[in-house]
Amino acid sequence: MFWFKKRKKEKDIINNPFYNEQNALIIYFKCNNCGEKFRSYLRKGYDFSNSYEGKAAYIINKEYIGSKCSHRIQLIAEFDNAYRLLNFDLIGGTPITKEEFESEG
Ligand SMILES: [Zn+2]
Repeated sequence: MFWFKKRKKEKDIINNPFYNEQNALIIYFKCNNCGEKFRSYLRKGYDFSNSYEGKAAYIINKEYIGSKCSHRIQLIAEFDNAYRLLNFDLIGGTPITKEEFESEG
């Protein structure tokens, strides 16, 4: 029953939308304006900035604009030195599960 570990439930997504892979964190979300789905692949060590504030060791601050509308989505997140999520904010977007991203509609 290994999929119990890999599969996130909707409520987990609200607390921590990041899927942890060996060398990356992946977040799926949709645009609050038009519903376009996004997948962002964040490579550890490349796409993260170093932080020296508080407990945070790595931060993400990215902006996304889809192809369906000009609505901006901003992702801000802080992680500790083991890439564990400390807090995040997704402005203009809503986190979704991998299953929802891959499904049609
Ligand atoms: Zn949009």
